[in-house]
Amino acid sequence: MRFSSPKFKFSPSSLTAKIESKVSIQTPSLSRASEQHCLSLLQACNSFSNLLQIHSHILKSGLNSNPFVLTKLISTASSLNAIDYASSVVFSNCDNITRIFDTFLFNTLIRGYAHSTVAKINGVAAFSFMLRNAIFPNKFTFPFVLKACAGLGDLNLGKQVHGSVVKFGFEADLYVQNTLVHAYSSCGGGIELAREVFDGMPKSDPVCWSAMIGGYVRLGRCNDAVVLFREMQIEGVKPDEVTVVTVLSACADMGALELGKWIGIYVEKEGIAKTVPLCNALIDMFAKCGSIDDALRLFGEMPERSIVSWTSIIDGLAMHGHGREAIALFEEMKSVGVIPDDVVFIGVLSACSHAGMVEKGCHYFDSMRNEFTIIPKIEHYGCMVDLFSRAGLVKRALEFVQDMPMEPNPVIWRTLISACRAHGELELSESITKQLIGAEPMHGSNYVLLSNIYASMHGWEKKSKIRYLMGERGIRKVPGCSLIELDSKIYEFVAGDKSHEKYKEIYEMVEEMGRELRIAGYVPTTSEVLLDIDEEDKEDTLYKHSEKLAIAFALLNTKPGTLIRIVKNLRICSDCHSAIKFISKVYNREIVVRDRNRFHLFKDGECSCKGYW
Ligand code: ZN
Ligand code: ZN
Repeated sequence: MRFSSPKFKFSPSSLTAKIESKVSIQTPSLSRASEQHCLSLLQACNSFSNLLQIHSHILKSGLNSNPFVLTKLISTASSLNAIDYASSVVFSNCDNITRIFDTFLFNTLIRGYAHSTVAKINGVAAFSFMLRNAIFPNKFTFPFVLKACAGLGDLNLGKQVHGSVVKFGFEADLYVQNTLVHAYSSCGGGIELAREVFDGMPKSDPVCWSAMIGGYVRLGRCNDAVVLFREMQIEGVKPDEVTVVTVLSACADMGALELGKWIGIYVEKEGIAKTVPLCNALIDMFAKCGSIDDALRLFGEMPERSIVSWTSIIDGLAMHGHGREAIALFEEMKSVGVIPDDVVFIGVLSACSHAGMVEKGCHYFDSMRNEFTIIPKIEHYGCMVDLFSRAGLVKRALEFVQDMPMEPNPVIWRTLISACRAHGELELSESITKQLIGAEPMHGSNYVLLSNIYASMHGWEKKSKIRYLMGERGIRKVPGCSLIELDSKIYEFVAGDKSHEKYKEIYEMVEEMGRELRIAGYVPTTSEVLLDIDEEDKEDTLYKHSEKLAIAFALLNTKPGTLIRIVKNLRICSDCHSAIKFISKVYNREIVVRDRNRFHLFKDGECSCKGYW
């Protein structure tokens, strides 16, 4: 096994220098040296400068080879976030390391690294060092090493440590197995290995389920997460709060309202404590699954709320286009004494944006700095650009971007490009998009954007050049994808999809829909005016767009009058938007579509977004 050698902030020589500089400030009470005295000093130590004083005292009193004192010194340094210092103490004793240090000491050191934000690799290196020096790991060592591997996301390291787990005979230890599942599922490409470990484990403990389900959710494999959650019920294992919160976030992502509701009922029935985080997860799920009324009801019932609760409900209202209600709640939040943070302001500004409240948005943006001394981040600037763009104030958006104190990010550029296009500034949008491609050459949606700009300019030759370029650079575009839940099962449709077993029937239905809609007065939009971020490719024939497939599937499989809910990964295109308006009227259905930006409730030929999307 080979690991890179540990990197230290302090080399032993600089360490000595540092300590010598501190020796002069020791207090007289430190002069009476004894092991017990040093231990109690360390016990009371509460700052790094204090630690340096105590260390110099230890050196002066000749206790720098005392295993008890050194172990305490290291655990104290770890607890003070001075993990590099702890490690320099260990490695400056290199010569007699095996005499002084034991497994417990190394566990302390590795745990310190696993919890530190910067130096996780040193945790693995320290592990490797203890092996080379024949200090044997125990079952408490591996979880910390694996945690460090998870933080690094390095699959190869994870495999190597797994090898050691087997070699030292800890592969049957439940705690080690749980951390193995977590480590593998946190490393790119490791999810199948995580599943292998999981499948070989006894399944009575909710922790392993939670680790595996969490792994799927982190990868965006929400359906797998939900399937596993169901298996967990079948096995009769009662989920803990962490698992429930994780599965709820999967439901929220997929728009799986029925399942989310069922989990809500399950929580009540099983008497799982409705903690504030659990309620927050439920509110977020209800809001993202299109059931804002349930979210509001639950929010109203909460005896205790955190800033996250307020943020979830304000975000939810904003996504549903209820800008005024969102703002009213924000005012209420302030009046009950909850101090806004930067996150809640993102919800507030997007509420203004989705409701077309330009001046209100500007007021709140200014209030961040003036009233709450919050420095706006790039996301807040992004909200403002979005606010101006949606309201058609392209010039103001452009000026705002020019005055930004930081470099605009690609999201802001894309917002600006779509604003330019929507208002006929095609040349400007072309030149910004070209710059964007220069900055982000591997980002597929930029090419789709430029290609669609050329389509609106009727620059067909340039358009096909872009296609060629994408093929040559091996860039893949994000396919449009819509999810729909039927009888608590999730069905997925991709643009032009033919994988569904009843795809023939579905395509026939789409054509049938097309005929009906045309009779009702629908005209397919071929030159779109409102295309946007991550838009769907116009080359995919419009009628094959995933949301139309999903709606056809729903019309075929649900009773007349049933509400249809769809979750779409990209922004809905203006043709689908107009087609769904007609569908809601012709087929007399309410249709809720959650796209990348917000909710659309289609009813009687109208949409709740009123064109702001
Ligand atoms: Zn479409
Ligand atoms: Zn709409």
